[in-house]
Amino acid sequence: MILVTGGAGYIGSHICAELARVGRDFVILDNLSNSSMDAVDRLQQLVGRAVPFHAGDVRDTALLDRIFTEHAVSSVIHLAGLKSVAESVANPIDYFDNNVAGTVRLLAAMRRADCKTLVFSSSATVYGAAATMPVTEDAPCMAVSPYGRTKLMVEEMLSDLHASDPAWRIARLRYFNPAGAHESGLIGESPRGTPNNLMPYLAQVASGERSALTVFGGDYPTPDGTGVRDYIHVVDLAEGHVAALDFLADNPQDVVLNLGTGSGTSVLEMIAAFAKASARSVPFEIAARRPGDVATCFADVGRARRILGWTATRDLDQMCRDAWRWQLVRKG
Ligand code: NAD
Ligand code: UDP
Repeated sequence: MILVTGGAGYIGSHICAELARVGRDFVILDNLSNSSMDAVDRLQQLVGRAVPFHAGDVRDTALLDRIFTEHAVSSVIHLAGLKSVAESVANPIDYFDNNVAGTVRLLAAMRRADCKTLVFSSSATVYGAAATMPVTEDAPCMAVSPYGRTKLMVEEMLSDLHASDPAWRIARLRYFNPAGAHESGLIGESPRGTPNNLMPYLAQVASGERSALTVFGGDYPTPDGTGVRDYIHVVDLAEGHVAALDFLADNPQDVVLNLGTGSGTSVLEMIAAFAKASARSVPFEIAARRPGDVATCFADVGRARRILGWTATRDLDQMCRDAWRWQLVRKG
């Protein structure tokens, strides 16, 4: 049995859908702080059966112990946490508590249950402003926000944990820019309030919910002056998690892996792709750079390909089509 913390969220729900597709049993723990029962209902509709779900917090030790015992959990995919860079700057304590203290509680519960296999949601933000692209897992890490620091702190804790007891099997997955939605149109990203990320913002502009996209910076040293990122379809990302679990089953290691496509897309290219997929116009205006943003970030995906035998297969057009389908479903 696989415990998926944060399984009601954007990436977690797609991982659960993929686990169900390949016939793996899972149980979700989510406090619904950034998701809803509606997402769980839709996931159940997608997988065609009831999904074991615990509404609760990853910091709740008693609840964790109960889940590990009740469900005989043998591995964990740990996504639960807060993810807004801006919010983490304004309220770092919440981020250290949810993301770092939450992981400490989880690891302690895992040890009590003798469950020592963990896949952790890290982020390409740990590379900070890396000097060379594509960025490899061996590049130096540097946190540029409290959010990034929580990811780095957890990664360091996991490395210490594995060094203390090599029976731990750990995959630290550094996601690049997850985007798109499940092609069924049943699950996707449901940001609360104003989206921080490009793709959900674009979807809301194309649907007329927002008037225009603000492009943060037109003067970067990139081919068209706008920021370049490595957007990866969320279903490809989900498949990467299953591949990581399979790898850990045969290899008791602490492994760090980039999950991206290996190619970069600028904001203007993304606007054009979304306009094409939605057949809508996407008004935008170029404004100042967003503080903390880097010009370019895309992954070296060689290690994931080599050791997991995994590679992203869905392209930008599919990401945009699937995000657009989800936007139309979500808004009914
Ligand atoms: P999300 O907010 O949709 O999902 C996170 C889920 O965790 C939510 O359902 C939320 O309710 C739950 N949660 C938060 N704190 C919790 C707690 N203390 N106890 C129990 N549940 C809790 O975000 P997402 O985009 O699906 O991200 C999932 C993970 O991937 C996060 O750890 C995030 O930092 C990481 N990540 C995301 C991105 C991205 O761009 N989306 C990029 C890199 C890494
Ligand atoms: N971006 C933008 N307008 C927005 C949101 C994002 O121009 O409303 C740009 C941002 O500056 C970056 C890219 O889109 O170059 C991806 O940003 P996002 O926040 O989605 O991901 P990040 O890489 O910052 O985690």
